[in-house]
Amino acid sequence: MQQDIVIVGGGAGGLELAARLGRRFGPVEGRRRVLLIDRSIFHLWKPTLHEVAAGSLDSHQEGLSYPVLARRNHFSFAFGELAGLDAAARTLSLAPVLGEDGRELIPERTVAFGTLVLAIGSGSNLFDTPGAAEHAHLLENVADAEAFNARLTAAFLAAAWSEHHALSIAIVGAGATGVELSTELIEGHDELSAGLTESQRFGLTVTLVEAAPRILGGLPERVSDKAARALGAKGVRILTSARVERVRSDGLETSQGFVPSDLIVWAAGVKAPRSNRDYGLQIGRLNQFIVDDRLRTSAAGVYAMGDCAEAPGPDGRPVPARAQAAAQQAAYLARALGRPDSDPGPYVYRDRGSLVSLGGDRGVGSLMGALGGPDFLIEGLLAKWAYMALHLDHHRAIIGVRRTVLLAVSRLLHRRVSGRLKLH
Ligand SMILES: Cc1cc2nc3c(=O)[nH]c(=O)nc-3n(C[C@H](O)[C@H](O)[C@H](O)COP(=O)(O)OP(=O)(O)OC[C@H]3O[C@@H](n4cnc5c(N)ncnc54)[C@H](O)[C@@H]3O)c2cc1C
Repeated sequence: MQQDIVIVGGGAGGLELAARLGRRFGPVEGRRRVLLIDRSIFHLWKPTLHEVAAGSLDSHQEGLSYPVLARRNHFSFAFGELAGLDAAARTLSLAPVLGEDGRELIPERTVAFGTLVLAIGSGSNLFDTPGAAEHAHLLENVADAEAFNARLTAAFLAAAWSEHHALSIAIVGAGATGVELSTELIEGHDELSAGLTESQRFGLTVTLVEAAPRILGGLPERVSDKAARALGAKGVRILTSARVERVRSDGLETSQGFVPSDLIVWAAGVKAPRSNRDYGLQIGRLNQFIVDDRLRTSAAGVYAMGDCAEAPGPDGRPVPARAQAAAQQAAYLARALGRPDSDPGPYVYRDRGSLVSLGGDRGVGSLMGALGGPDFLIEGLLAKWAYMALHLDHHRAIIGVRRTVLLAVSRLLHRRVSGRLKLH
């Protein structure tokens, strides 16, 4: 298989890039110039994984099939997992695809490329914490989120029919993921409780455990304070300056004492897989591919973007692993690779601010360089809408405005009819 541009990873950044380039080039003499490869057959925007985990988003309804997106945006799609790279020969290899019974469905393949873009995302940083890999749930992909949801459903049922009528969940890491997951869990429990008899109702304790002195450490202090107050009002227990020393099956040993928990979610830190070291590219401390200010890796013709890349940021620190950075880099590379005869200049990350959902119709965050100046506080319904706008913008880039509106309306109607909580 020989392709002009190959993109590996169809996530928040890679899929937007494939769609932009596919539409830009269109089919040339019946041939598509862009090939997208992903190890999943459907796309789900990663920032919604906590909703899948809490049961408020149906991944099968929300997910979009790559082959359909490929047809509509004039790129090709191949299902497969990156297993090797020979940058000098401009070839990559995809691992054999096995069926559930272990039989080989697709043999190992080699793909030749003119230009390669690595957009394979990242994973969690467990900071070598003993027991974390064994006892904590991660939220790295749809399978993780669904696995947690299955455990949550079972735990809800067990708590409703158990004698002590109590369930405790600990979330390690009070960044956006931890905060948003905690509110989704509380609201899901509220909806469930309203449908249970008095004797089945049970108490839910959600504890957010954070090593830093405040939650949402990457956001302005005012935003942290507002979010902490909103979480407190919902009944979320917040434990700051608490370093997790060991994860056990029954809870967390922290620098501030033991936190008993039936379920544990690890939502702290980002680290790319060790396998990134096997591709012969220059790698950073967090196993990300080191790129220059044009998103070029150490190998000619190979670019990296999004969470898998360590790109230089304007403040001297690497560009943060965020969906808005992945989307900006997709737009930049679409210009750089889509119009190779014009120089797009270096890529500069622009922090547009951060928004966090506090469940229901509330959000909080700050917008940078917009409206009221460099750091504009936004909250309530307006913040929630701005938060949702980022998601809609992603869909607009891959399915267009009309389909995005239809999708948003259908999701809204579905929620109205079925309720927000899905336990099946
Ligand atoms: C629960 C949660 C909430 C978040 N909320 C926000 C938010 O509110 N705002 C924000 O800015 N960011 C948020 N983030 C971070 C955001 O999701 C990421 O920064 C963003 O998805 C990165 O985009 P990406 O394209 O680099 O990688 P991803 O979106 O992770 O996509 C990577 C893709 O590569 C594929 N892949 C991986 N390995 C391979 C392989 N070896 N071979 C083939 N395919 C492969 C995967 O299947 C996936 O499709 C959140 C993250 C999580 C987990």
